[in-house]
Amino acid sequence: MVGNGRFTTRTPRRSAEGRASGQWLMARIELGTPAVLGHPARPDLPDAPAAFHLLAKPTGAICNLDCSYCFFLSKEELYPGSGFRMTDDLLAEYLRQLLEAHRTPEVTVAWQGGEPTLMGLPFFRRAVELVDALRRPGQVIEHTIQTNATLIDDGWAAFLAEKDFLVGVSVDGPREIHDANRVDKGGKPTFDRVMAGLAKLRAHGVRWNAMTTVHHANEDDGLRVYRFLRDELGTDFIQFIPIVERPSPGGIPEGSEVTDRSVSPAGYGRFLVEVFDEWVRRDVGTVYVQMFDSTLASFVGAPGALCVHARTCGTSLALEHNGDVYSCDHFVEPEHLLGNISSTHMLELVASPQQRAFGKAKLDSLPGYCLACDVRFACNGGCPKDRFTLTPDGEPGLHYLCPSYQLFFRHVDRPMRFMAGALRTGRYADEVMAWMARQDRRAEAPRMD
Ligand code: SF4
Ligand code: SF4
Repeated sequence: MVGNGRFTTRTPRRSAEGRASGQWLMARIELGTPAVLGHPARPDLPDAPAAFHLLAKPTGAICNLDCSYCFFLSKEELYPGSGFRMTDDLLAEYLRQLLEAHRTPEVTVAWQGGEPTLMGLPFFRRAVELVDALRRPGQVIEHTIQTNATLIDDGWAAFLAEKDFLVGVSVDGPREIHDANRVDKGGKPTFDRVMAGLAKLRAHGVRWNAMTTVHHANEDDGLRVYRFLRDELGTDFIQFIPIVERPSPGGIPEGSEVTDRSVSPAGYGRFLVEVFDEWVRRDVGTVYVQMFDSTLASFVGAPGALCVHARTCGTSLALEHNGDVYSCDHFVEPEHLLGNISSTHMLELVASPQQRAFGKAKLDSLPGYCLACDVRFACNGGCPKDRFTLTPDGEPGLHYLCPSYQLFFRHVDRPMRFMAGALRTGRYADEVMAWMARQDRRAEAPRMD
């Protein structure tokens, strides 16, 4: 697993009608405060969040592949000598606490890695059985798993379909782009194995999303990558994850130099703009691009699905194979270890002063350049993990991708305002496509002066 790790689980279940109209976003906006079930799970923690997102890593950093940019592989060094397998006892404890801690009807059980399928199918069968046995009346469970798909066979696909998992598949684009970084332990390409796994998922009717990284090898190919995902793979839900990679001795990134594989500061923005220009003219309502949806939410004034562009952090945590809980998937490092669920209930960790301070620091540490920025309402300074460059006046703490963010958010301003206006007045976001066609015709019309 790479990138920002946000295999989204905040996406509501979308009806075909809702997906086609953009109304599902409106539904989320109208929903406002999430419904809350019952009393606080812990009366002594009345301010604990009603819901949170915990990415569980049952194999820790262990993966069968060796993608060159994967930030998580180096985390193996944090657990020297570990077997990197979640035990059955811990699995039961984890699920019990997760279901207990949630007060919203919807609970997401999210598996990630490393490569979680290395745990084997029986582990996940047990997990689903436990969830069914432990869930409270009224709780609706969304099972999700992020995988490289290379181990998916008919058995896996049938199970994932039967239990209605939402499966995130890591795929970077056409063969040569995918294979530029996504290789196995022997350095061999993986494109064919991913396609074979994906074919199984599709044959069994599994719900799946594409998670696609943007890096040095594909940053100039936005349109090609997008069309491949849409037309060749037939996906209607895409996450683009920028690769920003710094040397990480001992698993902890340091310095302000990035590796050659990383996307360039403006490259991610150029990639997104290329994709957006196609999407906004023909795919609104039929293809869901997480970054575009999240941006639209910002223009409407609603919370988006991307933590990276939220005002604060704190409700997206990571659970290691041994029960350790960290502030975030991107901060699996000793300083951000909150505790272990074997000795402290996860809700106590989620609601702890340390975690609250972590979440608030995102806003409090913004440089003055961000505070004065015209697109801050949509950007919010980006993920603290990558705020390691200087502002034009020399203040530290600016996001490495600031040039991309400024480029993208300014480029999409007018169509986003149009869509936001449509949604606010009960119309459909996809009306923007006709509006764009009119704008294009006007721009092409010969001038009379
Ligand atoms: S640090 Fe914050 S913005 Fe970055 S990935 Fe974690 S929750 Fe998201
Ligand atoms: S676009 Fe740049 S200056 Fe503006 S809020 Fe984002 S990171 Fe800060």
